[in-house]
This record gives sequence, C-alpha cells and structure tokens, in this order.
Amino acid sequence: MNVADTDRMELILFHSGYRRTQEKEEADLILVNTCSIREKAEQKTFSLFGGLKPLKATNPDLILGLTGCMGQQDGEKMLKRMPFLDFVLGPDQVEGIGKAVNRVRESDKPFVWTGFDSEKIYSIPEISEDLPQKPGPSAFVNIIKGCDKFCTFCIVPFTRGREKSREPEELHQEIRHLIKHGAREIILLGQNVNSYGKRGLNNSIPFHELLYGIAEISGLQRLRFTTSHPNDFTRETIRAYRDLDVLVNHLHLPIQSGNNEILKTMRRDHTVEEYLELIDELKSEVPDVSLTTDIIVGFPGETEAQFQDTLKVMERVGYSSSFMFSYSPRPGTPANEMLDSVPEDVKKRRLQEIIQLQNRLTEEQGKSYQGKTVEVLIEGSSSRPGYSFKGRNPQYWRVNAKGNEGSYKPGDIVKVNVEQTSGHGLSGVIQ
Ligand code: SF4
Repeated sequence: MNVADTDRMELILFHSGYRRTQEKEEADLILVNTCSIREKAEQKTFSLFGGLKPLKATNPDLILGLTGCMGQQDGEKMLKRMPFLDFVLGPDQVEGIGKAVNRVRESDKPFVWTGFDSEKIYSIPEISEDLPQKPGPSAFVNIIKGCDKFCTFCIVPFTRGREKSREPEELHQEIRHLIKHGAREIILLGQNVNSYGKRGLNNSIPFHELLYGIAEISGLQRLRFTTSHPNDFTRETIRAYRDLDVLVNHLHLPIQSGNNEILKTMRRDHTVEEYLELIDELKSEVPDVSLTTDIIVGFPGETEAQFQDTLKVMERVGYSSSFMFSYSPRPGTPANEMLDSVPEDVKKRRLQEIIQLQNRLTEEQGKSYQGKTVEVLIEGSSSRPGYSFKGRNPQYWRVNAKGNEGSYKPGDIVKVNVEQTSGHGLSGVIQ
C-alpha cells in the first residue's frame, strides 16, 4: 500500500513540476512515507530523519515531509520529536500532497494533516497521459482502502480508517491505462481485498464479480490480489480461480496462528478448521496453487502447545513462503493492553523454529519444480551472474533465466526450464 501511495504522490508532484532525484543533496523536497505496523519500521524512520536533518542546515529551502501511518498515529508527537519537519501527512491525505507542499512554501509554520476523508466515495482522480515513469510489467492498483476488522494486534484500522471501495469503472480505466503504458500483470491491492464492494460504491458488487470484469480487459495477462482475510474469502472467489485463466495460481491468506484460542484473542473471528476447509477446497479446484501466509509468534498468552499448533498448520498447508514475525505490542491497539507474557528469548526461539520449518517447506516445493518448465513474466535484468533476466512464475516464485539478451524484453512471458532452486528462487534456461 505504501509503494502504491508513494507512486501516487510522485504522480501528483510530477504534474506540479517535481522530478525524482537520486541524490538527496540535490533535492528541494524529501518525503519519507512511513509504516507503523512494527516497532522496527518506526525506529528506521527516526534514524533516517536523523541523517536528513543536517541537509536543512546546508539548504534552508529544503522541505522535509513525513507521510504515512506514523504521521496518522502520532502527527503532533512527530513534530515535537523532529521540529525540523515541515509537515506531517496521513495516508488518507495522499491526494493533498501538492497542496501540502504549496502551503509550506507560503508559510513557515509546520503543520499536521491527518483527518480521514469524509467523502462517501473513494476516488483516485483520472490519471493523466503523462507519467513520471512507465509502470513496470507488474503494476499495483488500489481497489479498497482501510479495514473494518480490528484484529487486536493491528494498528491499520486506526491509521487507514474504515473500508471504502473504488468504483469498478474507475478501476477499469486505471488498468486499461497501465496496460497501454506497458503493464502486463495487475496486482489488486487492499488491506482486505475480499471485502471489496461492501461499502462506498454506488452499485455494490462483490469481489469475485470485480475479478470476472477485470479479467476481460484486453492485454491483461496476469491478475493477482493481496491481502485476503479468511472470513471474507468466498467460495465464489475459489470458482474464479478455476474459471479465469489470467488469475494466477497463488493465494496469500494470512493465518496468524494455528490455535483457535489465540485466533480468538487476536479477534480473527474464524477457526483453524474453517481456514483449512477453504484451503482444501481451493486445492481441489486448483491443484497447483501455491499458498503463502502471515504468522505471528509469541502473541500474549501463547503457550508452547499453542505455538506447536502453528507448526502443525504450516506443515498441513505446505506454504511456499511466509511473512513471519515475533509479536511486538503496538501502542493504540487492544493487544497493547494485554500482558505481553511471552519472554523475548522464547519469542526469538519460536520465530527461529517457524523460519526453519518454512525453509524446509520452501526447499521441498522448490525441488518439485526442478526439471520442469515454468511460465515466467520477465520483469527486468537479473543481478545474478550468468543470468540475463528475472521474473516470476504464476505461483510467485522468483525466477532467474538465461537467454539471448536481444530476444526478450520486460513484459514478455517466456517458458523457462528449471535447472536449480535456492530459497524461494528458481533458475533455468529460456526454451
Ligand atoms: S484484517 Fe489485516 S489490516 Fe485489518 S485489522 Fe486485521 S491484520 Fe489489520
């Protein structure tokens, strides 16, 4: 979401005459688009601003802005802690970036803009023909913002507000535009994409109908979406995997914990059994689907036996990769009020255990690709010595490929014979 918001701000600023520079010493404006989902991301932001502060002394006209979720959560505190900032902008104010920069030019007083958009409609104004840079072969499209789920560990509903969906016509227009400028794969984005259409549309349509509609857009070769919530992931969406050729065989479906008691304390509102039923149904419709997930270990109250349940679910599902974290309390969330009972060394050990298990699962699945042919969307040049191209297969494995450099370009879909695997990566030769 932050990458998509950053692209949007760049587009708006581009039309106000700003151009991206790689040298921070040359910049008239520096924006740091922040994340507050984990404590570590916040610490990185403070240390980054520590490095940027001296630039204000050498260039007093430099504008420094903090955008994103840290601003939404702690706007005034950010200004107090970093008085050299010119402004703080919340994620719901992305469209106002041009106005914010103009306001700094007109007045010296730092300010905070973090209100939530009260408009009923969630709209991203039409994209101009002129783009700051061409979209890559794989492009993000925001379809819904905010989240109504309020999982007890998560700050997102407080920083990004309630769910609101964008009109399908506007999404079709944006996707056609991206395809015209070189995109081949579209990744539909939202905190909970499966909840699409429940709020904010003139004529409500469910997520799976949106998928069927987008799949018809000419020139679209691959369609993905992230992130899903098991409670809103429907049987109709499973059918869409079966029916739509462009919808790739990969699903990221967060489980967070393999224990029902912990899921309840996390307020995930589903059981492990319900989750596994969905997975089994999807696997029976789409046998070569790959599954990825999010897992938190060391959540308040998690016992050793409950942690073992998570290992069992990982093994049972056979994830191809996972985003794995040890729990860290986030101020402002309900879980922050719970006793953070699992000692740090136990959290660390549990995290190491799930990482090791995931590595084994990934390795086993990687081996199953060896000697086989996979379809790869070329995204660019490979940084791996001896390989010309990098890309992904439909199941979202990274692929490095050898092939004649003049014969292929980003956006081409090629067949690669897999010779080696390492980590979540495959490598081979273009046929
Ligand atoms: S569904 Fe995702 S974004 Fe929404 S509250 Fe839960 S973890 Fe956060």
